Amino acid sequence: MITIEELKEKLVYGCKVLAFEGQSDIIWGHVSCRLPGADTFLMKSAYLGLEEASANNIISVDLEGNKIEGEAKLHSEVPIHSEIYKMHPRINCVVHTHPSNAVAFSSLGKELLPVGHEACLFSSGLPVYSDTTDLIREKTRGYDLAKCLGDNNAILMRNHGIVTVGTTVGEAVMTAILLEKACYMYLLALQFGGPKYWTDPEEAKIKKNKIYGEPGSGKLDIAFDYYVRQVKKLKNNS
Ligand SMILES: [Zn+2]
Repeated sequence: MITIEELKEKLVYGCKVLAFEGQSDIIWGHVSCRLPGADTFLMKSAYLGLEEASANNIISVDLEGNKIEGEAKLHSEVPIHSEIYKMHPRINCVVHTHPSNAVAFSSLGKELLPVGHEACLFSSGLPVYSDTTDLIREKTRGYDLAKCLGDNNAILMRNHGIVTVGTTVGEAVMTAILLEKACYMYLLALQFGGPKYWTDPEEAKIKKNKIYGEPGSGKLDIAFDYYVRQVKKLKNNS
């Protein structure tokens, strides 16, 4: 079984990989992961960019959203994480970021059509949370968001950002990266008056499994490990 130290390292790299892919929004955006077999989770701390995450500024939090260990400050949107873990035992990692293409796409009120492979990952459904565009600081809002997620792997938060989830850090982080890419691709096609063609829904479901695998299959973790290698390379060159 994975140790706390190993999980902390995964979480730190999860944050750095998202930053590497342009998903950092100054000091906003956060990632957490559930401690196996415990009613607690680890979370990136506030006042730091995603790329600044390190093992010594990771916080432990309980399922009521209270900090139980760590010196650093807790993000005020902790109910996004605590309420999702409480409602969905299948989920072990939650990502919340404000990536430009996904936020712009969320303002259009359109369905995400699979222009390329990436949107196929969301072929079973991409719920839109539109109760508010405000921060999710209250448990009631976190609960509504967790309910809106249902069995899906992501939510578009209209005029705010995205939440993606996974059975592992790799899955949730890769889902965030692929959602942002899918939105970018769709917005790009829109700029040229399209899309005129896209993958049909049945084929999209087949591609989803073939390319990205079922939750827990490890396929997205392989792609995540690729990103971790890139981030480590950058570090070695600096
Ligand atoms: Zn936010």
